[in-house]
Amino acid sequence: MTGKLIAGNWKMNGGLAANELLIKAVLAGLQTPACEVAVCVPAPYLAQTRALLAGSPIDVGAQDVSGHDSGAFTGEISAAMLKEFGVRYVIVGHSERRQHHGETDAGVADKAAKALAAGITPIVCVGETLAQREAGSTEAVVKRQLAAVIHANGHCISEIVVAYEPVWAIGTGQTASPEQAQQVHAVLRAQLKAASAQARRIQILYGGSMNAANAARLLGQSDIDGGLIGGASLKAADFLAIISAAV
Ligand code: PEP
Repeated sequence: MTGKLIAGNWKMNGGLAANELLIKAVLAGLQTPACEVAVCVPAPYLAQTRALLAGSPIDVGAQDVSGHDSGAFTGEISAAMLKEFGVRYVIVGHSERRQHHGETDAGVADKAAKALAAGITPIVCVGETLAQREAGSTEAVVKRQLAAVIHANGHCISEIVVAYEPVWAIGTGQTASPEQAQQVHAVLRAQLKAASAQARRIQILYGGSMNAANAARLLGQSDIDGGLIGGASLKAADFLAIISAAV
C-alpha cells in the first residue's frame, strides 16, 4: 500500500474569491505533507484550482464524471474533459449523488471505468444509511456497492481508491467510531484482496464528519488509509490539522 490520502470534497461550495482565499491559506500553512493531498472542487473551478495549486503537493480532483465518452448528454462532463484540466482524482458514487440523482451501482461502476480509462483515479464511495445499519445490513450494502465496481473494473481494480462513507455520518457531525469504521474497512479490504492480488495497495478512506478533533483516532486504525473530508475541508485550519494527523 502507498501512504495515506486526504481528499477534500468541497461539494457545491465556493466562489472565485473564496476559493483563492482558502487555497492560499492551506498552502501557507502546509508543511511538506506526510500523505497525499487533494481537493475535489466544483467543475467550474477546476482551471482556477489547477492554477493556484500548480507546483504544490496538492492534487486537483473533481466530484463526478460521466459514464459516457461524449455526445448527447447535456450537462455531463467526460473523463477526457476532466483530464484536460489536470484532474488526478474524481469522486464517483457519492451518497448525495446516489440519493438525489438516482445513481445506481452499475452507473457508478461505469463512471469508475471511464475515469480509469482516462488515467484518473476514481474515489469510489460506498456506505449504508442509518436504516440499513439498524437493520444489520451494513456489510451486505457496502459489499454490493463495491462488487459492482469490481465486476466492471476487475482488470485494473488496484488503481481505484475506495471511500467508506456511512450516509448517517455525512454532514451530520455524527462520526462513526474508529472501531465501527475499522470493522467496515476490514470487510472492504478482504473483498478487494479476494478480487486482486494487488489489493494491498488500494487506499480505503473514511468519510463522514471527520474533523480536526477526531481525525487522529480514525486515521490510526489499521485499515483506514486516509479521509474524504467534506465540511472540514472548507476551513483551512481544520483541513491542515487533518492532513497533519495523516502520518
Ligand atoms: C463528504 O461529503 O464526502 C463528507 C464526508 O462530508 P462531511 O465531512 O461534511 O461529513
